[in-house]
Amino acid sequence: MSPSTLALMAVFAHPDDEAFGTGGTLARYAREGCDVYLVTATRGEAGEIAVPELTTPADLPFVREQELRCACELYGIHPPRFLDYPDGLLPIIHQGQAVGKLVRLIRELKPHVLITFGPDGIYGHYDHIAAHHWTTIAFDLAADPQCFPGQLETGCEPHQASKLYYRVLSEQRLAAMSDAGGRSAVMMDGVPFPLVAASQDQITAVIDVGDSAEAKLAGLQCHVSQLGYELPFGQSAEELLRQPWFRQETFQLARSTVGWPQELETDLFAGLR
Ligand SMILES: [Zn+2]
Repeated sequence: MSPSTLALMAVFAHPDDEAFGTGGTLARYAREGCDVYLVTATRGEAGEIAVPELTTPADLPFVREQELRCACELYGIHPPRFLDYPDGLLPIIHQGQAVGKLVRLIRELKPHVLITFGPDGIYGHYDHIAAHHWTTIAFDLAADPQCFPGQLETGCEPHQASKLYYRVLSEQRLAAMSDAGGRSAVMMDGVPFPLVAASQDQITAVIDVGDSAEAKLAGLQCHVSQLGYELPFGQSAEELLRQPWFRQETFQLARSTVGWPQELETDLFAGLR
């Protein structure tokens, strides 16, 4: 990365977490020439297999890693980095070690902007909530030379990222997805956990990803073992690409060293260019 290149780092729990809510944003900024990194805590081996003939539970971590590699290639971003944690167990992982891994990545990759889940984890998934906590803490600690000083002896320097955003689901998008035949809850352990939408005043940035919608769709389609071969809500590619909710992604600013926006942002690097 050259010093002038803007860099974005997204941190999620499972391969495919990036796809619906941020795939367009990752692709858009890569297309604009930014360095875009995706960090995924697990290889998603606890996910249900949508296409049984495609893989077995034993092969699932390998298959899902390959699917995420495929998606990153189609978004045009750097290959994914994995924290190598077991799917479904993030809340009992040693938190300090997990934060340390993220701090090291932030110090190495020097992102200007970080993205992760909000505190609701979109539908309360405990792995998502763990990724949210780790990333929020790592954003603060990566700049502090007192934290993880051993990393500094191996060539890392403290780094203060400028902005932290939470990926949020808008009420309009949730309503549009329900109208299109989507569910308003995600089944976990046989229980429908409701998707949590952010109210209009919680959303501080709306990113137009229309020009990257095809790359977003292509990335989404890499996650076959989870999503199957059909497109969401049984729509055709043309129908999906036309949906306003597919062409916009919404975020909530959680930390900023470059001031707080007075109006809705349309660029995650606003104030940094
Ligand atoms: Zn997930």
